Amino acid sequence: MGTKTKLEILVLLLLTSGRDPGIVPRNSHPPEPEDIGESSNLSDWPGGQHGSAGLPLTKDVLVNGVLVKVKYCHTCMLYRPPRCSHCSICNNCIERFDHHCPWVGQCIGKRNYRFFLMFVSSATVLCIYVFTFCWVNIGKTMDTHECTFGRAILKSPISAILMLYTFVAVWFVGGLTSFHLYLISTNQVRFLSSRCSNS
Ligand SMILES: [Zn+2]
Ligand SMILES: [Zn+2]
Repeated sequence: MGTKTKLEILVLLLLTSGRDPGIVPRNSHPPEPEDIGESSNLSDWPGGQHGSAGLPLTKDVLVNGVLVKVKYCHTCMLYRPPRCSHCSICNNCIERFDHHCPWVGQCIGKRNYRFFLMFVSSATVLCIYVFTFCWVNIGKTMDTHECTFGRAILKSPISAILMLYTFVAVWFVGGLTSFHLYLISTNQVRFLSSRCSNS
């Protein structure tokens, strides 16, 4: 693991933050009521809640033979596909929306979830790698100079700073990695799961 790996992690970060997370192109005008189709509840929606253009706030669509309720987005003027959510920060509807990541300044969705997961997991491995080798380096310094841990830190302050930094960082990236691996293993990720979200 060397400079190449660190570069690869940076590329993953750029791919996560720079790539389109799955933005659903917005309409310039609201859909016409006749475009909505037979299955809409335009006239007999129980709550009588209609959008600004007289459109129902939800409609039922058939997805692989299953009736799915989709919500209307007033900002993007479209019916959101299943597992799609509107991000208030990016002000876009994102396909298979996972979350908005403030650290990379981008939504995590259909098209960049893979890169996001690869980024956090490789950053975790790098943190553990750097921490371990700084620890080994301090140990060697203690052996060579036959000194205490405190003195070894003074002799090799860079190792101590890197150890402190990676120790703090690993809780964030490691926590994210294990959380998302847990979600994947229990099939709770929208990216993989076939379940629909009505949020
Ligand atoms: Zn939207
Ligand atoms: Zn966002």
